[in-house]
Amino acid sequence: MRGLIIGVDLGGTKMHAAAVDENGALLHDEREKTLPEEGPDAVIGRIADLCRRINLALGVPHSELRAVCIGVPGGVDDAAGMVDKAPNLKWEKVPLAHLLSSSLGGVKVFLDNDVRVAVLGEHAYGCGRGTRTMVGIFVGTGIGGGVVVDGKIHMGQRGVAGELGHMVVKPKGPRCPCGKRGCIEALASRTSMERDVREMIAAGHKSSVIKIMKKGDRVRLTSSVIAKALAKEDPVMTKVVKRAQHHLAVAVSNVANLLDPEVIVIGGGIAERLGEDFVAPIREAAYERLLVQRDRERLRIVATELKENAAPMGAAFVARQRLAQLQPPPVRVASA
Ligand SMILES: [Zn+2]
Repeated sequence: MRGLIIGVDLGGTKMHAAAVDENGALLHDEREKTLPEEGPDAVIGRIADLCRRINLALGVPHSELRAVCIGVPGGVDDAAGMVDKAPNLKWEKVPLAHLLSSSLGGVKVFLDNDVRVAVLGEHAYGCGRGTRTMVGIFVGTGIGGGVVVDGKIHMGQRGVAGELGHMVVKPKGPRCPCGKRGCIEALASRTSMERDVREMIAAGHKSSVIKIMKKGDRVRLTSSVIAKALAKEDPVMTKVVKRAQHHLAVAVSNVANLLDPEVIVIGGGIAERLGEDFVAPIREAAYERLLVQRDRERLRIVATELKENAAPMGAAFVARQRLAQLQPPPVRVASA
């Protein structure tokens, strides 16, 4: 298929767009702040700018841009081109596909969920290449996931499958943003790690985490703060991360016992930064919990290969796939 395909990861803080060719090579990428407080029109204008910048950088005329797919942090209705609800952006019922398409001169725009496209990115171009069954768990502000079965993303009958973040691993555990208790998101997301760090420090445990946090522009437990505190062997950070890894291992083993996948990829900011250091303890503890121990190493539990490119590359993959589905079948000429 000729022409340029762009995938966009639309986050609450920043957006990241990438042009990817049919072999999965990243041709060029661009980033921009999202600034959702300026409203949907301003955000959509910035997405359009990113696409134009990519065209320009690659020296490709705008007419060659074939399709764009946006990975949205929330629920989408792709058929209607609508973002149903994206809490991080404070969007509800935003006709994103239509608005972006208009500002890009009628280019085809597809929508999907950001975690789902990241899982598809790893499946198509990353650590899941060539596998039939794969699971992705993305640890960030929250915890998202996706399941690939027989080479396709498993949507479920209502299209809501893959919510691994809300698997309950501790029924009387802390409250989750979803309202329930003890979801893995409430135990191992970056937000819950920050809560645990603050609680331990308030209880009198010595830690340099707050000092490291204050060096940044905001007092927040970012992946980089976690990495720095672990490198300094900060006792509070070490304990909090170990606890999160334990809970992730429980979740991973539950998923593995259910699906027996070939690969479970752990992504998101912390896994991108710490890689194998973050994943190795999760893998070891998860292996111990597998019901069937035979050939357990055949289950690969690995850190993200594409890192922050997983979502934009996956979105580009989805755009290419959906575009191909729209193409009319080749005209058959009956032989005489
Ligand atoms: Zn939950």
